[in-house]
Amino acid sequence: MAKKQFKTESKRLLDLMINSIYTNREIFLRELISNASDALDKRHYMALTDAKYASSDPLKIDIAVDKKARTLTVADNGIGMDKEGLEKELGTIAHSGSADFKQAMDDKKSDVDIIGQFGVGFYSSFMVASKVVVESKTVDAPANRWTSEGEDGYAIEPCDKESVGTRITLYLRPDTADVKYDDYLESYKLQELIRKYSDYIRYPIQMMVEKSKPVEGEKDKDGSQKYETTEQLETLNSMVPLWRRSKKDIKDSEYDDFYKNKFSDWEAPAKVIHYSLEGSLSYKALLFIPAKVPFNYYAQEYEPGLQLYSKGVFIMDHAKDLLPDWARFVKGLVDTEDVSLNISREILQQDKQLQQLRESITKKIKGALVDMLTKQRDKYEDFFKNFGLGLKFSIYNSYGMNKDELQDLLLFYSSHDGKYVTLKEYTDRLKPEQKDIYYCTGKSIEQIKQLPQIDKMLAKGYEVLYLTDDVDEFALSIMHDYGSHEFKSIQNADVDLEDEAEKKAKEETAKANESLLAKMKEALAGKVKDVRISSRLTTHPVCLVADKGVSLEMQKVLNKTPEGKDVKAEKILEINPGHEVFGALQKAFASDPSSIGRYSDLLYQQAMLIEGFSIDDPVAYANEICDLMVAASGHGQGVDHGKDAPAAVEPEPAAPKAEKPEPAAEKKDNTGAADAK
Ligand code: ADP
Ligand code: MG
Repeated sequence: MAKKQFKTESKRLLDLMINSIYTNREIFLRELISNASDALDKRHYMALTDAKYASSDPLKIDIAVDKKARTLTVADNGIGMDKEGLEKELGTIAHSGSADFKQAMDDKKSDVDIIGQFGVGFYSSFMVASKVVVESKTVDAPANRWTSEGEDGYAIEPCDKESVGTRITLYLRPDTADVKYDDYLESYKLQELIRKYSDYIRYPIQMMVEKSKPVEGEKDKDGSQKYETTEQLETLNSMVPLWRRSKKDIKDSEYDDFYKNKFSDWEAPAKVIHYSLEGSLSYKALLFIPAKVPFNYYAQEYEPGLQLYSKGVFIMDHAKDLLPDWARFVKGLVDTEDVSLNISREILQQDKQLQQLRESITKKIKGALVDMLTKQRDKYEDFFKNFGLGLKFSIYNSYGMNKDELQDLLLFYSSHDGKYVTLKEYTDRLKPEQKDIYYCTGKSIEQIKQLPQIDKMLAKGYEVLYLTDDVDEFALSIMHDYGSHEFKSIQNADVDLEDEAEKKAKEETAKANESLLAKMKEALAGKVKDVRISSRLTTHPVCLVADKGVSLEMQKVLNKTPEGKDVKAEKILEINPGHEVFGALQKAFASDPSSIGRYSDLLYQQAMLIEGFSIDDPVAYANEICDLMVAASGHGQGVDHGKDAPAAVEPEPAAPKAEKPEPAAEKKDNTGAADAK
């Protein structure tokens, strides 16, 4: 029979299992039982709507040992696998659990310590077995046998098996000095493992167990009661699911193990939400907030939703209607008496009870998050870094419908003390005269800190939220306000916090420089809506602000999409009258008004760059700067950039003369060049 090779990605996992020096090998049994339980769930679920899946025998898992042959068998009468199934499921890591594990291994590069924490799946049987045989049959197809001795691949052939389901036989490895594989042939050991790892499995796990029984009416030679040893079929698990047990009897480690195993995560959850409600709506829920973003969270294949059980019976996986969109990161299950067993996904959507269920679950999740926010701030911040984006998206996508629900769960980085704050914290410490909530947007906190608009706000003691996610400003504009406090961008024209004196000074300067400003505006026609004197700048010569409507950040975000590529903010160029560059402009305007066009353009372009926009012609901009440097250093009459160079207005050579132009800050270049006139 031809051997087939395992897929490469499976091979590594397999190697790991075969050569494992991991001492906790016993988890293989948990993995096989959990697969059997899944297969039983699937059959049960199919049988709800299709009679051919119905089983005449009760669904169960059988464990058997053969001490002579040194085999351990785990059999189920579940859904089974056909030839393709065996090939696909056991020849590749196509399934989530093991793929996650492999990812974790690749990330961590350490072999052994995480095996036990993870749903490593079927291949873990090679930790104890030198040969594994899987015989399986579905309701539609004849039975097949899959055989593998590990590294050298596997083979599949037809076999005799009448009943639907899967039987997995492990040929245990010979004992070594360190490891007693024989233990897995002992019923006491198997009982212990099943109680430890698989107690809550909903189907009976049965095994023939040796029992000594008193023999009626017979005495031993010494006159004591005579006993005989018989074999008896026993159910080894209590079959009470974890979520049906009382919270106070459950250890944290039990929750963690349950979560890791059931939801294929190798890290314990950040939060466990376990509760039971009785009343008009009765249900039990066991929910988890993962500690890390699932690796496929942002991929199409990520399936949000909870498992739905009815009276302890599994109904469906990924019932996404049980969760609000913003909580799609929550994993877990809900067990309710109120849903009929053969409910379909379509009915589920419309079901009134389900809607109530969802509302109730939503409330609980929110409550748990608020609790975490108030009592475990660090943990909450980690949570928010992981999943906060989704909350903001949800506010935006719902047009602010869930604003009330979510606004107090949001965190933003604040200038206050460089920490993440809630909107409540922000508004609780507004300055006496402050009404609005100020924010500023940019690519990163560092970039925002450098923005020209920010210095004065901070100097005046205003707290500013630094927004770095694309969705932030969209979410805030949909929310409009928090309490009675509106969100205002300090990169927008309508926010200026000038006092009377500043306002007066600004107006006077504007008046005195009316024609200069008009000239600049004319030069920048089509690029900016206005050029005006600013009261918001301290160390920078210019900045851009947006007029009402689309903000600077929104333009950037929208321009990334095909529909939004032409969206433009209405920009206003503001000039700092206290800056040397303004003096230079005034001088240039007096001596050579025709130079203003060129300088305006340079200032506009640097303002664009500082705001994180790209400029239309970076080469021309760079050439201009070079020209100015050369002119400032007195090294000539400009550089020949070829025919594309703009018709330069030649500034006069300037003193002081330097041998080489220093690579000075932009501001200085401009100032120097302009002063030279
Ligand atoms: P996972 O359980 O995370 O999917 P496993 O490695 O444990 O990964 O199992 C791989 C796949 O093999 C399962 O998804 C399932 O399709 C199939 N499988 C394993 N055991 C059984 C079984 N007893 N009955 C039916 N299918 C099974
Ligand atoms: Mg599994």
